[in-house]
Amino acid sequence: MANNKKSEHCSFCGRPASDTLMMIQGIDGHICERCAEQAYLIVKEELGTADEPKTKDGSSALSLKKPKEIKDFLDQYVIGQDEAKRTLAVAVYNHYKRISQKVQDDEVEIEKSNMILVGETGTGKTLMARTIAKMLNVPFAIADATVLTEAGYVGEDVENILVRLLQAADYNVKAAERGIVFIDEIDKIARKSDNPSITRDVSGEGVQQALLKLLEGSVCNVPPQGGRKHPEQKMIPVNTKDILFIAGGAFDGIERIIAARKSTNIIGYSTNADQVLDKSNMLQYLAPADLKKFGLIPEIVGRMPIITHLDPLDDKALKRILTEPKNALVKQFTKLFDMDGIQLSIEDEALDFVVEKAIEFKLGARGLRSIMEAILNDAMFEMPSTKNPKQLVITRAYAEEKISKNTKLAQ
Ligand code: ADP
Repeated sequence: MANNKKSEHCSFCGRPASDTLMMIQGIDGHICERCAEQAYLIVKEELGTADEPKTKDGSSALSLKKPKEIKDFLDQYVIGQDEAKRTLAVAVYNHYKRISQKVQDDEVEIEKSNMILVGETGTGKTLMARTIAKMLNVPFAIADATVLTEAGYVGEDVENILVRLLQAADYNVKAAERGIVFIDEIDKIARKSDNPSITRDVSGEGVQQALLKLLEGSVCNVPPQGGRKHPEQKMIPVNTKDILFIAGGAFDGIERIIAARKSTNIIGYSTNADQVLDKSNMLQYLAPADLKKFGLIPEIVGRMPIITHLDPLDDKALKRILTEPKNALVKQFTKLFDMDGIQLSIEDEALDFVVEKAIEFKLGARGLRSIMEAILNDAMFEMPSTKNPKQLVITRAYAEEKISKNTKLAQ
């Protein structure tokens, strides 16, 4: 019904057809593209169905939860780690507020809130990043910093991080450009000079420089299938400006750096002299300077301005991890048995035993699953073929016996 005949006028604003881009014809008149758009907005507003705010790229803004709601969500999956959760919740909230900023009000440029999570292995760093991505329903990719190398060396180019994100987004570039990337083991690419324990043949500093490009926000040419770049390959340009980077690392030995800094401070400033340090958890005093001293280059620390720590998991936390999270191991195994019509119950003392073993094996929360598997494997093998199995009660004695027979776990 659209045409552009010169003699027509818009029945609403009176503009001649020659001044319009498009004229839509009705039974008894015309409407130009501007008035049609205006009318559409009025209708939306009147009916209370106004569009979601648009982001800079024109796509719909995310329905963003407030920091408290984000933390509540994390609480369902992650035990403890309150400080890290609060910091992450605010960072994510601000990040997505930033990318929901309308085009017009870009006078105040909000900077990115990339962050570094420092904590022992198996304390929930990846779990937190993964849970946040699940909540936001954005593509999420995990990259292992230890396999990254500078261009020209054997290993993975940093752009491969974005390949995984693209894959997670089903190659929807726009979606990938608002995703979350978790870079694991960032501490392993620390500069050697500041951290003599690292024995990489390719300087960590070079990898950090390469990573910096991603963190800064730039358009990276990504080989769609990954691997090394070669000249004839078709590349997908991905802008990293709105990708949230969360890095995690154990930073073994950083406590000593923190302690040294704190004690220098105490000597230097008499007002701090009576400050009592909680030596059992030095990570709580972590500062950017410590990460630099550990061997991260200042530019990386500058581009990951939010740092937070995860507490070591004690026996109480491990026991809660077994039973409380939404997809807690005990709930998962209960469901598996339930599907065979078997009611599984695990006595409290048996759970204590699982926790003791996890601590003994120094596996943290990571070890809980293999210990549970080792205890339940025989039953999971035999019971589905047993006639009318009704229930399975795991006592401490039962658990001890299964672990003692397990050649992989019992040493
Ligand atoms: P890392 O800190 O090394 O990234 P992960 O997040 O990968 O550790 O944790 C490994 C597994 O241990 C998780 O999949 C989860 O099952 C469990 N886990 C670790 N920490 C927690 C926690 N704080 N709350 C609940 N589960 C946890």
